[in-house]
Amino acid sequence: MASINSAQFLQLEEKYGAHNYHPLPVVLKEGKGIYCWDVEGKKYMDFLSGYSAVNQGHCHPVILEAFLEQASRLTLTSRAFHNDQLGPFEEYMHQLFGYDKLLPVNTGVEAVETGIKLCRRWAYEKKGLPENQAVILVCEGNFHGRTSTVISFSTDPSSRKNFGPYMPGFRVIPFNDLPALEKALEDPNVAGFLVEPIQGEAGVVIPNEGYLAKAKSLCAEANVLFIADEIQTGLGRTGAMLACDHEEVRPDIVLLGKALSGGMLPVSAVLADDEIMLTIKPGEHGSTYGGNPLGCRTAISALQVIKDEGMENNAILCGDLLRKGLKDIGSRHIALVRGKGLLNAIVIDHPDNEAAWLLCLELMKNGLLAKPTHGDKIRLAPPLIITKTEIMEAVDIIRQSLEIL
Ligand code: PLP
Repeated sequence: MASINSAQFLQLEEKYGAHNYHPLPVVLKEGKGIYCWDVEGKKYMDFLSGYSAVNQGHCHPVILEAFLEQASRLTLTSRAFHNDQLGPFEEYMHQLFGYDKLLPVNTGVEAVETGIKLCRRWAYEKKGLPENQAVILVCEGNFHGRTSTVISFSTDPSSRKNFGPYMPGFRVIPFNDLPALEKALEDPNVAGFLVEPIQGEAGVVIPNEGYLAKAKSLCAEANVLFIADEIQTGLGRTGAMLACDHEEVRPDIVLLGKALSGGMLPVSAVLADDEIMLTIKPGEHGSTYGGNPLGCRTAISALQVIKDEGMENNAILCGDLLRKGLKDIGSRHIALVRGKGLLNAIVIDHPDNEAAWLLCLELMKNGLLAKPTHGDKIRLAPPLIITKTEIMEAVDIIRQSLEIL
């Protein structure tokens, strides 16, 4: 294709693409580490990391090598046959996370759907609930993806409106509210509690210390499965392999995705012990690409570099530095700085409803990419390989950009 500029790329998407996203007007063409370049060659720090899919940095050389080597050998067999990467990936995940078994899928929302199906199966076949009566508790402000089942229990009108009828069997309770959970657990038909350890899309909402641990123990007492959606919070992002690790909570079901492939291709997974996982029998659940050798090989490498390069620890150190730097700016337009590890957000305080969007446009102009979530919040989540110097450069860009407000 003849070389065309950013404006022309935007026009193509506007004309020929569905309008289901509202991106910043930047057209990226290359990525390396924490940086991206647009089609005009301008360089940016990436402070979104593909919604935390690129924790390891763009085109990480070790992951890329594994990906390319596998891509040139065998990419897809379907699960009609075995392949020589799936078993080793499952064993690797068992050793890393300590669950009996793994079920591989592609996108994050498929992992959520799989978790829901497993929970219901377990409820009928192990817990002994009457058929079709299982209830799964979810939290206000949740984000678990976009399928019609998952948006059925969203509390965000823009995710739900006019997509009904909605899937029954879910009950919404407030996030970070233990008495509400305790009360909801009195219903004997409750089978599971599906929760994000930190609500990412809602604007990095962090529950009180001890919430996850107590919630887990309440669920255990009620014989209810604690299902942790770690698709955004997992794999080093908050300074631990799982955000639940901070409270030494072992969920009954763990949902992983995004950074599981370091941004190379969609790879997601569900982890659980035999009592839960083996309730699904051959032929009862699956996906053409789930467990494909390219994804499995890439995922092992993507996890290994998190460990080898100490990314969890770097997320803690750089996250602390970022939050301190942002607070030290002392802007009257930053109402709040919050986060854990390198999953952070600022809440903008400004009479103009568009202020967060305008700030992101200015950040872009000044070489930093970030995107508002829910209007007034801006998530700041760079790849976990960022250095302290780069964090301070980013803080300077944010300080300078705030001047337009
Ligand atoms: N769960 C959480 C917590 C997420 O943040 C996301 C995506 O942002 C999903 C599930 C859905 O993942 P995917 O977009 O890969 O389907």
